[in-house]
Amino acid sequence: MSKFPLLSLAPLGPPDIQEQLDSEFEVHLVGRDGTLDELIGRVGGQVTALVTTGGRGAEAELVEALPKLRVIACYGVGVDAVDLAAAARQGAAVTNTPDVLTDDVADLAVFLLGALHRLLVRGDRWVRAGDWSRSGDLPLGRSLRGRRAGILGLGRIGEATARRLEVFGMEILYHKRSPLPDSNWTYLDSPLALAQQCDDLIVCCSGGAATRHLVDAKVLEALGPDGTLVNIARGSVVDEQALVAALQSGRTGGAALDVFEKEPEVPEALVGRDNVVLAPHIGSATWETRRAMGNLVLDNLRAHRDGHALLTPVVPG
Ligand code: NAP
Repeated sequence: MSKFPLLSLAPLGPPDIQEQLDSEFEVHLVGRDGTLDELIGRVGGQVTALVTTGGRGAEAELVEALPKLRVIACYGVGVDAVDLAAAARQGAAVTNTPDVLTDDVADLAVFLLGALHRLLVRGDRWVRAGDWSRSGDLPLGRSLRGRRAGILGLGRIGEATARRLEVFGMEILYHKRSPLPDSNWTYLDSPLALAQQCDDLIVCCSGGAATRHLVDAKVLEALGPDGTLVNIARGSVVDEQALVAALQSGRTGGAALDVFEKEPEVPEALVGRDNVVLAPHIGSATWETRRAMGNLVLDNLRAHRDGHALLTPVVPG
């Protein structure tokens, strides 16, 4: 029996996961097996499955170039870069990789906040540059203990982040569109109200048009000179120009960012600042989590191939 053909826009997870995919499916991988246009020309009329990543997504033009498409398997939990309306028109389901990445992303949110307040990155530079012996001690940092964390988007990752921050002695406040029915954490009914009440605003909501620039100049100003912003969600949620202006004027005290509006470009104005910690979108970037994400993509593709129910559909086909 011939193997099941699929189009893949990016390699899947650690090498052994991609090898597994190659052994079970007839994979047409962009870059390795041809350009996207070449592969669409060669197999676009046959493939029923497309593999993509949260960052790459799938635009309407691509979805429409694959007339038999029935599933888009996204290697990532955020599907904001997938044109869900185009997928629905085509009758294609969309799957993602929820839960398996939650802990690592929440860990990173905490590490970023800790690095920012305890001046870890600045301290590292201080030691390496010889400033410790030349200039003495690093300026003092801040305790996490006693600060108020404002979680913007209390879903899987937001909740896991909140639980971790409680252990550090932080008070938890949150905003999402609908409050949790049973929670001891304090609900605020808008991002602005949350920023007014918290010390550290931690962006954990989904990306996409509905959350674009939810964190704008007003929200940043409300954080104040001692307030900070952490973003591990999507660059699109924060108005980056407003963030740069707020940091430059001191209206916001600092930022720790894993995601940016135009990745991999990071504004020069952020790069040079001591009160900014930067990471290159590594929330889920561990061997363990990327393997688990890859296995979940594989399981969804197997279910599609074998005519079983998809494991983690965001949009049913
Ligand atoms: P989730 O469980 O779906 O949580 C999303 C949260 O966002 C929910 O609490 C939702 O609550 C809230 N939300 C959605 N729209 C909102 C709006 N307009 N205003 C306020 N809150 C809103 O998703 P998750 O698994 O926690 O993942 C969250 C996001 O993290 C993903 O979408 C992805 O973009 C990002 N992520 C980043 C990395 C990284 O490497 N940095 C890795 C994985 C995921 P309501 O529906 O009640 O509003």
